[in-house]
Amino acid sequence: MADPGPRRSGPSRRLLGVRIDLHTHSTASDGTDSPAELIAAAAAAGLDVMALTDHDTTSGWAQAVGALPAGMRLIRGAEFSCTAPDGRGGNLSLHLLGYLFDPESPAIGAEQTRLREERRRRLRVMAERMAADGYPVDPEVLLADLPADAPAGRPHLARWLVSAGVVSSVDEAFQRFLATGGRYYAGRADTDAHTAVRMVRHAGGVPVLAHPFAPGRGPVASEDVIAELVTEGLAGVEADHPDHTGPDRERLRGLAAELDVLTTGSSDYHGHNKAVRLGQETTCTEACERIEAMASGVGVVAG
Ligand SMILES: [Zn+2]
Ligand SMILES: [Zn+2]
Repeated sequence: MADPGPRRSGPSRRLLGVRIDLHTHSTASDGTDSPAELIAAAAAAGLDVMALTDHDTTSGWAQAVGALPAGMRLIRGAEFSCTAPDGRGGNLSLHLLGYLFDPESPAIGAEQTRLREERRRRLRVMAERMAADGYPVDPEVLLADLPADAPAGRPHLARWLVSAGVVSSVDEAFQRFLATGGRYYAGRADTDAHTAVRMVRHAGGVPVLAHPFAPGRGPVASEDVIAELVTEGLAGVEADHPDHTGPDRERLRGLAAELDVLTTGSSDYHGHNKAVRLGQETTCTEACERIEAMASGVGVVAG
């Protein structure tokens, strides 16, 4: 076989159509592929660059780096659960993608500690409410027995109710007792979106708002909320996302041009949990290069 010569890079590679997917989930959060399986699936899907963005954790990073094949580049990231005022006296839920931030930075560490404590406090409140109503729940034992490596949450109380014979399944526990807004539910402990944008920036990362106009997660962000986040350092918005309509995408592109921020496109792949395919939506090379140039937390890993 003839020597293929030096590996192509830069503009010549761009002509070949680099495929970039900047939003994926592994078993480190709610995906069904392990980080290594996800990397293999990304290679099979013909991706040249992918970002691993599990919900509120970087625990999949090391395995993904270890599995990276030659020629593929990995952008390490996370998707932070956030809230912001909805402008009507309530709050809306936002997801913030953070790329290439330093997970060891004090800004990230302090917020992770606060969230961990807040999640424990919230679980205790729900357990105490059930105990007060006579259900066989011991909040002290429940909290003492929590695994150290998983964030405290409703599934722990649900599993307790299954073992105590109150319900026959975790699903039933959620439906009867733990549904959002129900009698025993205690509000979420997410990070304020402004704080989250500053946190990612302080950690040398690049914050991009995930699926800003996707319905099905409650009210969506207004243009004003997005503009405010840009003043805090938001670098971009995810315009091409499977849950966005054509008009949503156009509106986001217009807004991004107005606010002078970048747009990305990503599958938000979750493995078998959702029907989307890896690389179903992609980001252009220019946007990806801008993200890389802006970051000072951790580098892009080349396989
Ligand atoms: Zn999301
Ligand atoms: Zn996601």
